[in-house]
Amino acid sequence: MNVSVTAGIQTVKLLIDGEWVQSQASEWRDIVNPATQQVLAKVPFATQAEVDAAVAAAQKAYVGWRNTPVGARMRIMLKFQALIREHSKRIAQTLSAEQGKTQADAEGDIFRGLEVVEHACSIGSLQMGEFVENVAGGVDTYTLRQPIGVCAGITPFNFPAMIPLWMFPMAIVCGNTFVLKPSEQDPLSTVQLVELALEAGVPPGVLNVVHGGKDVVDALCTHADIKAISFVGSTAVGTHVYNLAGQHGKRVQAMMGAKNHAVVLPDANREQTLNALVGAAFGAAGQRCMATSVAVLVGAAKQWLPELKALAQKLKVNAGSEPGTDVGPLISRQAKQRVLGLIDSGVKEGAILELDGREVNVPGFEHGNFVGPTLFSGVTTDMQIYTQEIFGPVLVVLTVDTLDEAIALVNRNPFGNGTGLFTQSGAAARKFQSEIDVGQVGINIPIPVPVPFFSFTGSRGSKLGDLGPYGKQVVQFYTQTKTVTARWFDDDSVNDGVNTTINLR
Ligand code: NAD
Repeated sequence: MNVSVTAGIQTVKLLIDGEWVQSQASEWRDIVNPATQQVLAKVPFATQAEVDAAVAAAQKAYVGWRNTPVGARMRIMLKFQALIREHSKRIAQTLSAEQGKTQADAEGDIFRGLEVVEHACSIGSLQMGEFVENVAGGVDTYTLRQPIGVCAGITPFNFPAMIPLWMFPMAIVCGNTFVLKPSEQDPLSTVQLVELALEAGVPPGVLNVVHGGKDVVDALCTHADIKAISFVGSTAVGTHVYNLAGQHGKRVQAMMGAKNHAVVLPDANREQTLNALVGAAFGAAGQRCMATSVAVLVGAAKQWLPELKALAQKLKVNAGSEPGTDVGPLISRQAKQRVLGLIDSGVKEGAILELDGREVNVPGFEHGNFVGPTLFSGVTTDMQIYTQEIFGPVLVVLTVDTLDEAIALVNRNPFGNGTGLFTQSGAAARKFQSEIDVGQVGINIPIPVPVPFFSFTGSRGSKLGDLGPYGKQVVQFYTQTKTVTARWFDDDSVNDGVNTTINLR
């Protein structure tokens, strides 16, 4: 992998113009296994000159790449998807070690990204323009969907495979070139995927990688030669990126934070619903943007709380590398401290702590950033555990009397990423999907992340920008439409003479 060993410490390289280069950065950060605190490697915070070199390489490569036939671009994606399949288990091991999720969940992370690469193989039909013959006498109009130039992607720590794969495959298959800035907390599996992209035939400069934090992100958002920015991460940073890059004339899409409500009606299938809630709340230690973090029990479903607690209590907290693990560690010590602080605030603010994961003990992994499944009832909408995205294994339970009240509650929350309704009533489901102001809606589905034929979306504080990642929307995002209105003259065509009115003949 593209980490080199200097004085016994592995260092992650930058990818500039097809070469893996050692950064000259003065600032480096440890990549740490969150279950053990073992330092896996060091990642540089690239210098301005290195960011400029990556963008310049992408700019130089753009000229040739945009003219590469669509079939050639597509065949690289075909090879890339085959390579990802072949190397999925190996990359999942790296991902599990640096991120903490279980091997199976890490393979799922890669698989959901792989689906986007598979979809990129349909670029021939996805990037098709439109044509209308004879819009006026002998005049045809058609559209070209052209790439826009150098694009950049900024990704979060929680899906180091899926989210980079939401971005660069679709961007480059449309004919753009790309600069990727992976999460500085777990870039190793992302780098392994980029290596496979090069092996699949992505030419030098078409895909570049710079590492770092705020300074590198700001350098990309303000760079004169970058045309579009895709961002996935928290709402605070996403809003900053959206504003800064927008001020610098770029197209921006920002997929951001969440507080996902599962609304449970009393007619729901009890066993399936409770299983779904527990899996979606505590899987990946709650570090999914689509994790269920709020359960809204409606009417008699309030009586399901003890069963919910009993199921959550059974989950096994352990390192992602250990067989049978349900809940792995949080990404960092700081993340753990933040989650513990929010749990403390819930207790102080008067919520009932039904299940307390603060003192969880994991034999053999005493230094890991573990928090056990934590469940609060009696939660009100002014408490911090409700107003903030906790991003940990914490489920807060609210109760209401009617579906209307539940819909109003969800729509009042500042976030609108995902939500689910659990019911056996088609009429209730139809009302919910129509009235709820949330991007991804699940009906008896706890984590309704759309497959790549559709696009990921989001409402209110969860998304900025009109167009989402993958699906048809991202083809619009990564291309610009040009209309051509054309007329051809036969040698014997009649001279029209000069016409000073605004019409076509
Ligand atoms: P984050 O916002 O801290 O970091 C995201 C990226 O921004 C990283 O690459 C990071 O280096 C960079 N960054 C961090 N601070 C910055 C700053 N001050 N200025 C400029 N750039 C900065 O997010 P995270 O903790 O890595 O990821 C978790 C967050 O991502 C959660 O809020 C989660 O809901 C969200 N998320 C959203 C989606 C979605 O599709 N809506 C998907 C996954 C994760």
